[in-house]
Amino acid sequence: MAVDLGGTNFRVCSVTLLGNSNFKIAQEKTQIPRDLMVGTSKKLFSFMAQQIKNFVETHHSDHFTESSEHRLQLGFTFSFPVDQKAVNKGYLIRWTKGFDIKDAVGQDVCELLQNEIDALEIPVRVAALVNDTVGTLMARSYESPGKHGALIGAIFGTGTNGAYVENLDKLTKMTAPGNTFGEYDKSTGEMVVNTEWGNFDKGMNVLPDTEFDRQLDRDSVNPGIQMFEKRVSGMFLGEILRLTVLKLKNEAGMFSTSNVKENAPLFEQWGVDTSVLSDIEGDKSEDLSQVRQVAEEKLGVSEITLDEARALKILVHAIGKRSARLSAVPIAAIILATGKLSPAETTTKPTHQRRQSLIEKATTAFQSLILGNPPAADTAPAGPATDDEPIDVGVDGSVVEFYPGFEEYLREALREVNEVGNLGEKRVRIGIAKDGSGVGAALIALVATKAALMAGMKKGDL
Ligand code: ADP
Ligand code: MG
Repeated sequence: MAVDLGGTNFRVCSVTLLGNSNFKIAQEKTQIPRDLMVGTSKKLFSFMAQQIKNFVETHHSDHFTESSEHRLQLGFTFSFPVDQKAVNKGYLIRWTKGFDIKDAVGQDVCELLQNEIDALEIPVRVAALVNDTVGTLMARSYESPGKHGALIGAIFGTGTNGAYVENLDKLTKMTAPGNTFGEYDKSTGEMVVNTEWGNFDKGMNVLPDTEFDRQLDRDSVNPGIQMFEKRVSGMFLGEILRLTVLKLKNEAGMFSTSNVKENAPLFEQWGVDTSVLSDIEGDKSEDLSQVRQVAEEKLGVSEITLDEARALKILVHAIGKRSARLSAVPIAAIILATGKLSPAETTTKPTHQRRQSLIEKATTAFQSLILGNPPAADTAPAGPATDDEPIDVGVDGSVVEFYPGFEEYLREALREVNEVGNLGEKRVRIGIAKDGSGVGAALIALVATKAALMAGMKKGDL
């Protein structure tokens, strides 16, 4: 089983693996009520437990009978920064994406969930704590054909973040004197690293910045952090559009001949959803009838002129394309820093240097893209390839899934990053990991449970 607290939705699912990259999934989805995002941890986690109970009653009622041998093993996708101490233990570092529940910070989120599950007497055990990026990486590796698993799992949903596969010998943090990581499995020689790239460049050295970005940040629950995410992901793009349009209305006479409702979403912080941008971007009609309709229904402004509809479309395009192009940066940085295009480059630098080099790579990638360094020529040498296999990137999230042209703009930007160039970009295979965080979390719960049994845990304790 898996649950996924993504930021906007809460999903519960169970997965049956069928082999050969196939699976069967049953799932239920509910929107997270806004007041639960800023209330108490008790409220949020008991809400989740209740949804789990409904799901198990509907889909696995057999597990409520006494004869059932063990509890359902659950992968808990919790996509916020945690200090993870064990496969099913992790302490919340900080909230992101508009959540702000003070009493949960510093607590083990698996224990919070297990307590509420136990209180409702549901036969479910929280077996693994999973970041959605890692779940996406797992799901994509299971689903996509090829010799290797995926290199990157990336999310462009409410927030943005990515995880990738790193060589264990590069992670000197694990063997540094005085570390407290305890035992971990070294058999594959690899480890998945959750980058938390949403917080990239919080010092604002290279990120593009406008007055609207600054205003959004000032009025957010976490000013000064997640600055990359605030320019890329679904939680924020609608708000950037809203602030931009509001200024044009107030200072440039936009909508002066239209009907603007008094309590229009245009006047309400977070009132404009990012799906509005997708709808506007997707209008290819001559008279922009869909833009007008969206303006009426989603912004609260009716009878806009054709020029105003065109202006909306230009703004949306700028915001959406900027997001997609920025999204190419961490992907390019990881491809370069892991040496997937030029193996000679990644020898045995210790982690602290490598991490710096990942950030340096991202910074360089930004400079190619934004500060106008000459783009790589079509024939830019991509370095010797390890093999001809594609470099697989699994993605998930409504923005990458539904924003028209998102992947194309992202790819266009990848081509413009010096060193990746055209040749490297062609090897990058990007694929939606459908239901990725759910399937991935369930896969991880399965592996974690097998590992626990092998380590001597009794079946009855599961
Ligand atoms: P979660 O982040 O909870 O896993 P999603 O991946 O569905 O959920 O992402 C939700 C985010 O995507 C919200 O911020 C929402 O505004 C945005 N979104 C929803 N539908 C669309 C769409 N059609 N186009 C672009 N963004 C969308
Ligand atoms: Mg998600």
